[in-house]
Amino acid sequence: MGSGQSGLGRLSASDVGAREFNLPDRLNYKVSRRELKQAYRALGITPHDKLTRDLEHEFWVDSYNSIRNMQEVYDINPDEMHEMRFRPGNKYGTYASMNFDGSFTIQQSIRSDTYDGVQKTYEFDLKSGFHPQGTTVQDIMAHEYAHAIEAQLIRRIVPQEVHNMFGGATYVSDTNRIFAWADHTVANEILNTARANLGLTQAGFASAVKSLTGYGYETMQSSSSADSGHHETFAEALSAYARLGKNSGALATEVARLTKKMLKETRPQRATKSSSTSTKKPRRIVKKGGS
Ligand SMILES: [Zn+2]
Repeated sequence: MGSGQSGLGRLSASDVGAREFNLPDRLNYKVSRRELKQAYRALGITPHDKLTRDLEHEFWVDSYNSIRNMQEVYDINPDEMHEMRFRPGNKYGTYASMNFDGSFTIQQSIRSDTYDGVQKTYEFDLKSGFHPQGTTVQDIMAHEYAHAIEAQLIRRIVPQEVHNMFGGATYVSDTNRIFAWADHTVANEILNTARANLGLTQAGFASAVKSLTGYGYETMQSSSSADSGHHETFAEALSAYARLGKNSGALATEVARLTKKMLKETRPQRATKSSSTSTKKPRRIVKKGGS
C-alpha cells in the first residue's frame, strides 16, 4: 500500500508530546489516534469513537489521505461542506456509503474484515472491471467523498422550501433537496453534459462508462431511463481522477472538470474581505526531525 511502512505502529505518549501538534497534510501510519482524530476534524469530518477503536489504524490513515487529496484536487474548503461524520452500518456487499445527512456509513464488510482482506476484495473487484483501473483500496473513502460533493452541490443549487404556518410562523425544509439527492440530479446533469461535450452517442457513452467502471455501468443499466442512474459513475470518475489525473481517461477527466467548474461557480460568497482566506487548507503535522 505504498509507503513501505509495515504494521500499525503508533507513537508513545511521549513521542506525541514531542511533536508540534498542528497539521495533517499527508499522514503516515505512525500518527497517533489522537492526532488522527484531530486531522479528520480539520477535514470537516467527525470520527466515531467506536469505529476508530475497531477499524485498523491503517484504514483510517489511508482514508484520511485520500479524502484530503479529494479536497485538494477539487479545491474544497472543509468549512464549505455540510457537517460530516462517520457511523457504523450493517450492510454486507458494500464497503461504505454516504448519506445526505452528512454521515459516511462504514459497512459491516469493512468492519468485520481485516484491511488486507478488504484489499483482496477490492483487487478482485478491480480485476473484474468493477472499479476504475489504477484505483486502490485507499480510494474507497474518496468514492464516498465524491457522493458528499454531490450532496453539497445539491445544497447549493436546490433552495430550501419556506413554509408559512398559521399565525405567521415559518419553517424551512430540505424536502426538495432530499428528492434531488434521491434522484441524483447533479451527478446525472454532469454526466449527461460530459457525454454531450465529448460528442458521444448513447452507445459510445455506455461503452465509455463500462470501460471506466463496471459499478457505474451496472447502476446506469438498472436505472429507469438512459439519462439517469449516473451517480456511481460520477463517484468513480471523481475518485479515479483524483488519484490518476488525466490517466483516468477522457470521461473521468471531463466529469472532474465539470464538477470543479460547478463547485467554483456555486461557491458561497464570503461576507467579509478578511475571510477571503477561503483557500485555507487543513493544517500540517510537522514532525520534529521527521520525514
Ligand atoms: Zn457509491
